[in-house]
Amino acid sequence: MSRLFYQTRLERPALERAEGIYLWDTSGKRYIDGSSGAMVSNIGHSNPRVLDAMRKQMESSTFGYRLHFKTEASERLADKAAALAPEGLNRVFFVSGGSEATESAIKMARQYALAQGDAQRFKVISRTPSYHGSTLGALAVTGYGPLAAPFDPMMRPMPKVPAPRAYLDGLDIDDRATGQHYAQMLEDMIVSEGPETILAFIVEPVGGASTGALVPPAGYMQAIREICTRHGVLLIHDEVMSGGGRTGRFFGADHWGTTPDLICLSKGFGGGYVPLGAMIARDDMVEAVLDAGGFAHGHTYAGNPLACAAGLAVIKEIEAEGLTENAAKIGDLLKARLEALMQRYPIIGDVRGKGLLLAFELMADRHTKEALPAKLNAYNRLVEIAYENGLIIYSRRTRGGYSGDHFLVCPPMITTPEQVDEIIALLDASLGTFFDELPANIA
Ligand code: PLP
Repeated sequence: MSRLFYQTRLERPALERAEGIYLWDTSGKRYIDGSSGAMVSNIGHSNPRVLDAMRKQMESSTFGYRLHFKTEASERLADKAAALAPEGLNRVFFVSGGSEATESAIKMARQYALAQGDAQRFKVISRTPSYHGSTLGALAVTGYGPLAAPFDPMMRPMPKVPAPRAYLDGLDIDDRATGQHYAQMLEDMIVSEGPETILAFIVEPVGGASTGALVPPAGYMQAIREICTRHGVLLIHDEVMSGGGRTGRFFGADHWGTTPDLICLSKGFGGGYVPLGAMIARDDMVEAVLDAGGFAHGHTYAGNPLACAAGLAVIKEIEAEGLTENAAKIGDLLKARLEALMQRYPIIGDVRGKGLLLAFELMADRHTKEALPAKLNAYNRLVEIAYENGLIIYSRRTRGGYSGDHFLVCPPMITTPEQVDEIIALLDASLGTFFDELPANIA
């Protein structure tokens, strides 16, 4: 018996090797990484140029504590991240994962407010559903019941507004009135809580696992920016999953051209080669916090030179190979193919996303949006069938985390049109098996 444990008793085969979009277990079975792990392995596995860069860095140094040395790798990666970020956000704070990036952004926001003499601002508004991380600070702003509930008494309650799930509310995502409708919920919340108490609003520009690649309705991103500015509320873009080129732009919010005050980045930033993340902040915020005595926050592995050298090589690869553009192109193709599956499977109720951050949602009735019975555990079952067939996809419950079933289909950004055919063939076969298992009153 393994001494290792994670969330459940789920048993998985041992990984032997991985290359490109494929993984092999020790029995020789091949899997397509149709979810890039957890939307992490954006440039695919075992990229030789990234491995070379890591090897080169390892030969010179693998650790230089940030309070003792600066390193070329971390300086160069900070320059690169700042160059990719919107104007005015040029200061980079390295971390080792997404939850740490969220914690860092929230703490930077709070210390900036203190530096401004705004000590009464401490509430961070977020959305339901949302996912911002599993540490207690990040979890307090996460709108996903099953993950947060056990810890509720240990966390400060933070206000939540509904995520703009226009497809469930029967609203037109392309209508600016829809964007305004959901943005107004934020403004109403700010006003009812007392604007002088609101520190920040945190939002995933294109939704991740909790909403299943939710795309904001027309005008929403611009409207929330205006509302935050009007009330002196800092805007945090959590680009942990949507950043790094996956949506067809380097940052998800680049689709709308809006500028936040703080950005959280991880996952595709290290591409699965190393634990790496970053919080990118407005220059003047950082200066104010440093002037006021310093940022009271940090993690031991921050700015690790090996992680930064790998991150730099990952971005180089994305740029040299045009992978962001490929994510946009292949994403359009894959989305069209997923939409085509709706003809064959009436239980596919919605297909959504941008670039290669894509998801489909199963429903008992596409028109009423009624979810499949929760006890069917469709979100687990279809993933298991696909896994058996050699296709890895990623699922979550859609409705508050307790019912509804969506599936992220997010292969690496190097995926080719032929590989899209492979993914769709395996998914089609898996859906067929799942469909045949359904009770007669649903199928
Ligand atoms: N924020 C978003 C949007 C995420 O999708 C995730 C992870 O899925 C996190 C934060 C937390 O990242 P990590 O699991 O690296 O701590």
